[in-house]
Amino acid sequence: MSTTEHQIFTFLVAFGFLMALAILVLLFRVTAPYGRHTRPGWGPLLSARTGWIIMECPGVLMFGACFLSGGPKSVGAWVLALLWELHYVHRTLVFPFRIRERGKRIPLVIVASGVFFNLINGYLNGRYLGVYASAYSLDGLSALRLFGGSFIFVVGFVLNMHADRILLSLRKPGEQGYKIPHGGLYRWVSCPNYLTEIIEWAGWAIAAWSLPALFFLVWTMANLVPRAHAHHRWYRTQFPDYPANRKALVPFVF
Ligand code: NDP
Repeated sequence: MSTTEHQIFTFLVAFGFLMALAILVLLFRVTAPYGRHTRPGWGPLLSARTGWIIMECPGVLMFGACFLSGGPKSVGAWVLALLWELHYVHRTLVFPFRIRERGKRIPLVIVASGVFFNLINGYLNGRYLGVYASAYSLDGLSALRLFGGSFIFVVGFVLNMHADRILLSLRKPGEQGYKIPHGGLYRWVSCPNYLTEIIEWAGWAIAAWSLPALFFLVWTMANLVPRAHAHHRWYRTQFPDYPANRKALVPFVF
């Protein structure tokens, strides 16, 4: 990495952490206007499926291109890259085709901000792994972090798909409304899809043990903690029979 690129890289990481804090505060005040929180006044709209594909594909491509740059890769770096691509290929090419999107729209501004974030995040994490890949050795504490973190990631990934599947099976073909989800982690929380997404990236951050990976985890939490709070409040106002002991995101706590 040249000195100039290193300066830009360091600036982006530092700026990213500050932005995550700002986003956390902002999203508790203004809920991101997509899905059940869609409302007029947010500009042009795209179909939800197209929006998800456009928004997530930089996560696959930018990360992949940056990872492949730099020197030879260790096994540890390949493990991290494969886990990342597993998530993003699923989110780009599988998830959008499973949503019941008839009539569902997403504001262009949300898609554009998702693209912007995924470009920066893909660059930071891909480039870090691409350049420092040889540092991931497979002995001692490094191996424990790598395999422990990867295990947590895989558990989060499987539970995330399960939580998404429960939501996506609530509507019959042609239906557009909302129902109370049951089963799995929905017994305890309103948004297990968000909880398990956070678990995934916490696992990846432990495995990668880098500032860009920590930035991604913090950013994910800054997005999903306020959104879980908003979803939970929304369920409670929409469904008088909503399970009283269910929390928003963390069982028994929040
Ligand atoms: P939501 O839970 O809002 O919605 C997921 C899908 O399920 C949507 O198609 C939604 O329809 C449908 N759905 C949700 N609840 C119900 C219900 N009660 N009844 C019927 N259908 C329902 O999740 P998001 O769209 O916000 O996120 C999708 C995935 O992306 C999640 O796994 C999340 O973790 C991940 N994500 C990750 C982020 C990150 O920063 N890493 C940021 C945002 C999302 P509709 O669209 O009509 O509401």
